[in-house]
Amino acid sequence: MKIPVLTYHANNITGNDYHTNDLVALKYDLQLFDKLNLTVISTHTLIKWLNKEVNLDTSNNYLVLTFDDGTELDLWDWQHPYQGFQKSAFTLMQEFKQTTGRYIHATSFVIASPETRAILEKTCLAGHKIWGDSWWQEAEESSILSIENHSWDHLHHTIENVYQKDNIKGDFSVIDTQDDAMKQIIDASSYINSQIKNKHTKEANQTS
Ligand SMILES: [Zn+2]
Repeated sequence: MKIPVLTYHANNITGNDYHTNDLVALKYDLQLFDKLNLTVISTHTLIKWLNKEVNLDTSNNYLVLTFDDGTELDLWDWQHPYQGFQKSAFTLMQEFKQTTGRYIHATSFVIASPETRAILEKTCLAGHKIWGDSWWQEAEESSILSIENHSWDHLHHTIENVYQKDNIKGDFSVIDTQDDAMKQIIDASSYINSQIKNKHTKEANQTS
């Protein structure tokens, strides 16, 4: 059995149709999941299944939802200055849950470094202040979203000095030393977890 992992970037908004707006795409895809009778499982359940800690009914078709680069748009609706009102991924998933009665869950992979996120707001988001971390706690407390680690600095090409021994950017395959891996994986996770009270005490309930 194969389980696809779908990734959306909620901050990818240059219009309001499927190809120009990941939130619009998510809304349509959720309807499709319902129509095709696909069962969403959490990343936690996926990992348990990969580790053979849980069984999944092989007569079902499963998928996993993830949001990359975690911004506030994963949780909170937003009035985009040019593209208008945007329902957050959380709002769309909550509506899906209410209308279909189906289980829904997604993991937001967030960038740990506050300095990096502040720079990325300027270099990637035209200065929109939506890359903070004040939403992490509320997201984690919801039964719909989990917050997990998407590196310390994303090795982003607009960051002057990244945590990579030769300051090589743009590709995680260049993280090939213990020190760099510690920073991007262990230290980043520790920072993220330190910002969220009672992290992981509320394991997402999985129906299946
Ligand atoms: Zn990313």
